[in-house]
Amino acid sequence: MASSPITMMKMKLNNCSPPSTAAAAARFLPLLGPHQIRFRSSVAPLYNPSFPRTIITRPTFSSSSIITAAMANEASVKVIDGKKVAKDVRDEINAEITRMKDSIGVVPGLAVILVGDRKDSATYVRNKKKACETAGIKSYEVCLPENSTEEEVLKYISDFNDDPMVHGILVQLPLPSHMDEEKILHAVCIEKDVDGFHPLNIGQLAMRGREPLFIPCTPKGCIELLHRYNVEIKGKKAVVIGRSNIVGMPAALLLQREDATVSIVHSRTTNPEEITREADIIIAAVGKPNMVRGSWIKPGAVIIDVGINPVEDATNPRGYRLVGDVCYEEAIKVASAITPVPGGVGPMTIAMLLSNTLLSAKRINNFK
Ligand code: NAD
Repeated sequence: MASSPITMMKMKLNNCSPPSTAAAAARFLPLLGPHQIRFRSSVAPLYNPSFPRTIITRPTFSSSSIITAAMANEASVKVIDGKKVAKDVRDEINAEITRMKDSIGVVPGLAVILVGDRKDSATYVRNKKKACETAGIKSYEVCLPENSTEEEVLKYISDFNDDPMVHGILVQLPLPSHMDEEKILHAVCIEKDVDGFHPLNIGQLAMRGREPLFIPCTPKGCIELLHRYNVEIKGKKAVVIGRSNIVGMPAALLLQREDATVSIVHSRTTNPEEITREADIIIAAVGKPNMVRGSWIKPGAVIIDVGINPVEDATNPRGYRLVGDVCYEEAIKVASAITPVPGGVGPMTIAMLLSNTLLSAKRINNFK
């Protein structure tokens, strides 16, 4: 979450649709695409909002509502509504915060350190602050100029490490190039590492029988979506495309912890299409617009598209639109369920940050 690497670079429009559907693709606008309108109504029977996985317990799956890889047609595709799930998660967090405040008088606190004047980073920090306020989390914000020294940042981290009102610390990435990112992230004490990027956390995620204190927000959000839509993971073949430290790698580790058989496709994989086509579950986190085509997808597969890629779009007032790593128009003809971009994984990332902050406050205060 700290890095929030949504690079807003402009890319040449990559229209993944075959020529006959190109006109429809041109009308595909964020959140209002024709496919989303058509399929959103079919979400309800599978989506189970009463499964408070993140916050409290693990649900019992009902076999009748489990999504498994099976032949799917366009009409039966489920759009996994990340906005709706994220809202439910935030409501649950809010209720828990109220309970904690009423019982022991503690309000969770999240400190965010922003260095420099990158507009995208400022936007992420603003969004996090807003989400904290809505959920009832107190946010502490430090904005430092681009030419600040490493020592200044480390001093703030040290102060927040010692501050009992702060339960989570997040350093917004990227940091200016004169700073040692690794050194700064290591300075955050592991008990407040709500991003889950500390090597100890990742190491514990990778080891059997160990429990990490925090799970990185975006991969945690991906798994939460699968759980809330009753997607069976155990025993399934999963392919994660991308192996970054903040998304792909921890997502693969999480799927493995859930007893999936996991393959990782990366930039040096020679036959990505063939490997991906074997998957019951695909998590795509590459940062390449529409890379995963319909032909890569096994009929009935469930797709979590993490990618957020701006592509030129003259029909959009902003001059661009956001697309995922998966060609949505082709995927909905083959998959059984898919996250849209935007409105899929994105809203879950901030919800999971709030969830980790609450978790931290509960743990530090021994509140059950
Ligand atoms: P990254 O650049 O750090 O990692 C990309 C990964 O993709 C690398 O591991 C690389 O090996 C792999 N890759 C590159 N080219 C490939 C290819 N041709 N085939 C297979 N794999 C290839 O990116 P990241 O930080 O992991 O982010 C990935 C995408 O997810 C980006 O679009 C980013 O904006 C998005 N993202 C979204 C959220 C969210 O909240 N929704 C959060 C984080 C990242």
